[in-house]
Amino acid sequence: MKFADYASKALMDITARPELVFVRGEGSWLWDHTGKRYLDFVQGWAVNSLGHSPRCIVDALAAQAPKLITPSPAFYNEPSLKLAELLTRESCFDRVFFTNSGAEANEGAIKLARKWGRQQRDGAFEIITTVNSFHGRTIATMSASGKPGWDTLFAPQVPGFPKAEFNDLASVEALVTERTVAVMLEPVQGEGGVNCATLAFMQGLRALCDRHGLLLICDEVQTGIGRLGTLFGYQHFGVEPDIMTLGKGIGGGVPLAGLLAKEHANVFEHGDQGGTYSGNPLMTAVGLAVVQAVLQPGFLAQVRALGDYLSTALTTLSHELDLGPERGIGLLRALELKREIGAGIVTTARDSLAGEPRWDNAGLLLNSPRPALLRFMPALNLTTAEIDLMIDGLRTAVRHQP
Ligand code: PMP
Repeated sequence: MKFADYASKALMDITARPELVFVRGEGSWLWDHTGKRYLDFVQGWAVNSLGHSPRCIVDALAAQAPKLITPSPAFYNEPSLKLAELLTRESCFDRVFFTNSGAEANEGAIKLARKWGRQQRDGAFEIITTVNSFHGRTIATMSASGKPGWDTLFAPQVPGFPKAEFNDLASVEALVTERTVAVMLEPVQGEGGVNCATLAFMQGLRALCDRHGLLLICDEVQTGIGRLGTLFGYQHFGVEPDIMTLGKGIGGGVPLAGLLAKEHANVFEHGDQGGTYSGNPLMTAVGLAVVQAVLQPGFLAQVRALGDYLSTALTTLSHELDLGPERGIGLLRALELKREIGAGIVTTARDSLAGEPRWDNAGLLLNSPRPALLRFMPALNLTTAEIDLMIDGLRTAVRHQP
């Protein structure tokens, strides 16, 4: 089929999309409508934690769909009870509320913190967030985000989200007033360009929150469920937040997200929170399969080993091609390019490798969240051979840049 045969104009034009239609995925590979295949180092923006259409997700959907899809969030269902039990057993949290997207989970975290502030801190409602953070695309989560330009887009913003500098404890402390109820951050800023919190910053924030009686909220939509080589990102830093949000990787590609809280921050009362699809058994059955897979013995150690392998490979390539430094934790990594060639590399890697020896009718999917930066968020279960192949394609794509 030709691209022109598809009625692409019927979709709202919300981003520049290449003229490809993806029709199939398996592991680290995607196939388009012409049969060309692509090695995928984007994976739905760090969503497909186990790669495309992994057996365990296909089986979970096939087993659950004929049994029960949605009874209503006003009733219990088995997969959501099991997943909530597993998440609370494996984390420092006591309670879970399931949502459909990361933004919705963060909305829930904001509501929880504001309610807690009304009850415990005399109506305090401000949540300190960080410059360059990303928390979602609802009006409140856009207001919480520190993405440049978002303060005027769709103004007026929801008030109450003063911005501190990431990795600068003094800038957080300077914003604390009697109106402050919480500090919210991503342990690694994903969309902001893979900016990793330092151990000192995370531990300093925990101490600061304890000192001032504030809640610490970790947005782990991108860092949770194995991405950093620990089940949850906070575990890498040796601190326990009061509230955490999950998304992306927990669904392994299906819309599932969640809000977790310690009991002292679990202040929702009947009527405060809900959502038609919250905890529906079809999605939570998938979440259960994904978390069980990530908890298999050796899986997280393998993510750490693959992260080290990718890090070394990127550093070697960077020396070879005179690029900038590499950074990241686990399998959320970035490479500085020194020059604004990110978009060019993404296009060349996708569209123009097909004549190269190892790329017969194949391309490579990369992501450039900033003009001089590439971000890598492959499947957590990829192979070192796939990393080697990606490096080969990246080398060619960099060499093609003017
Ligand atoms: N928080 C973080 C850290 C994210 O990376 C994202 C998505 N990029 C979101 C929240 C929003 O998640 P969703 O797109 O599922 O609403």
